[in-house]
Amino acid sequence: MSHSYFTRKLLTIKDKNIYFPPDYLKEVNLNGLTSFIFKGILSYQPTHCERCGTLFDSKFKKHRFKTSRIVIPKVSLHDTFLELKKQRYYCGHSQSTFTLKTSLVEKNRLIS
Ligand SMILES: [Zn+2]
Repeated sequence: MSHSYFTRKLLTIKDKNIYFPPDYLKEVNLNGLTSFIFKGILSYQPTHCERCGTLFDSKFKKHRFKTSRIVIPKVSLHDTFLELKKQRYYCGHSQSTFTLKTSLVEKNRLIS
């Protein structure tokens, strides 16, 4: 089992498309309190374009990331956040970009 597996267990994250890079945990001081920031990456191959509905093919390209900070349940009584880098894709059919979705964000509060 990888450290991503155990980190998802610890943070009760069910989305298996989220993985954690080697330097994934940061301890920061927010308003005088120690807080944890976990850095995660959301990446998978989409089935189709969200704009035009075309099925995934060679005209789809990875296109940077969109990062958002999500409040997740406290770890050891410290405020804990997930800084999630979501993979964006470019679709050559509709010449538009879209961001991959995770089930995690709907359930948790999002700080933009
Ligand atoms: Zn498209």
